[in-house]
Amino acid sequence: MTKRDYYEILGVERNASPEEIKKAYRKVALQYHPDKNPDNKAAEEKFKEAAEAYEVLSHTEKKQQYDRFGHAGVRGPGGRGPEMNMEDIFTQFSDIFGSSSPFESFFSQGQRRVRKGTDLRIKLKLSLKEVANGVNKKIKIKRYATCATCGGNGAKDGTAIATCSVCQGTGQMRKVANTMLGQVMTTTPCNACHGEGKTISAPCTTCQGEGRLLQEEVLNLQIPAGVSDGMQLSMTSKGNVPVRGGVPGNLLILTEEKADDLLKREDNNVHYNLYISIIDAALGSEVEVPTIAGKAKVKIPAGTQSGKVLRLRGKGISDINSYGKGDQLIHVHVWTPQQLTKEEHEILASLKDASNFAPNPSSKERSFFDRVRSLF
Ligand SMILES: [Zn+2]
Ligand SMILES: [Zn+2]
Repeated sequence: MTKRDYYEILGVERNASPEEIKKAYRKVALQYHPDKNPDNKAAEEKFKEAAEAYEVLSHTEKKQQYDRFGHAGVRGPGGRGPEMNMEDIFTQFSDIFGSSSPFESFFSQGQRRVRKGTDLRIKLKLSLKEVANGVNKKIKIKRYATCATCGGNGAKDGTAIATCSVCQGTGQMRKVANTMLGQVMTTTPCNACHGEGKTISAPCTTCQGEGRLLQEEVLNLQIPAGVSDGMQLSMTSKGNVPVRGGVPGNLLILTEEKADDLLKREDNNVHYNLYISIIDAALGSEVEVPTIAGKAKVKIPAGTQSGKVLRLRGKGISDINSYGKGDQLIHVHVWTPQQLTKEEHEILASLKDASNFAPNPSSKERSFFDRVRSLF
């Protein structure tokens, strides 16, 4: 990729004064700042590009090299441009914006990262009834929690935590290298304190200076009604605490729905297959069916056909996002006997020519059967 002209990037004339260059950079940097353009790769590139341009044009020597030789004049030792990492850019920023920077939070993160603990993931099996009604579950987890002896700082009680003398508490080592293009500054995490900026003279004996311990904890989980298989619930800050303090990770709970033997869930509705005898279908009956809220009595009207669907309103699953509830759908199947005694056979045979037993579906019923067929 050919590099764009540094003056063009900042939108200034070649004879711009240092004050004008600074002003122009401020404008471009604010426009493409990552805080204003989260997850925008193009903006990030523009942001870095502008930082690089300013890095060169704000230094008299580098600017002279660039004016005379172009990009070739300011190549780094590796043959690349004077590339900067984000930390360099934010250091440069504080020079320009001072302490009244509108992006203070971003800078302080850039300079000393806030440690974040890792997330914990667990799977939670739920029965259809638990899913339908919501449930309180007590679960046992093992997580890194703050060491109670030292309160998480890792120091043996009473002993001092000192500012690292090597890096003066910044957590960074700055190295200045003299190159033919002038001084180049790089930063690396401090070796003495591993970037923490602090040193402990005597580590806590309970946690060996880690500030945290693997502990078993019982948590009360409130599972809302209507969750579905594979849904992820999260409990903020119930993940692992990082070494020597910081923000704990989260506990992520992946719900798994155990299949029910009798009831099948489909979205917020529950389906149930009911088998009734020819006698009950013809004479009508009252039967008991299972629901997610226990047994329910259902009236079978006389003359019920196989394939009829009875609906129990509001006996389904609560919608997780609203106050609505699904229904239970009862699919009626009329059971044809497969074995008959001689007596049963005789009774049925005597009805063979009875006109009421001859199939005679109404047009309404015919269209119903067509609809059912079209489902397969
Ligand atoms: Zn401790
Ligand atoms: Zn240090």
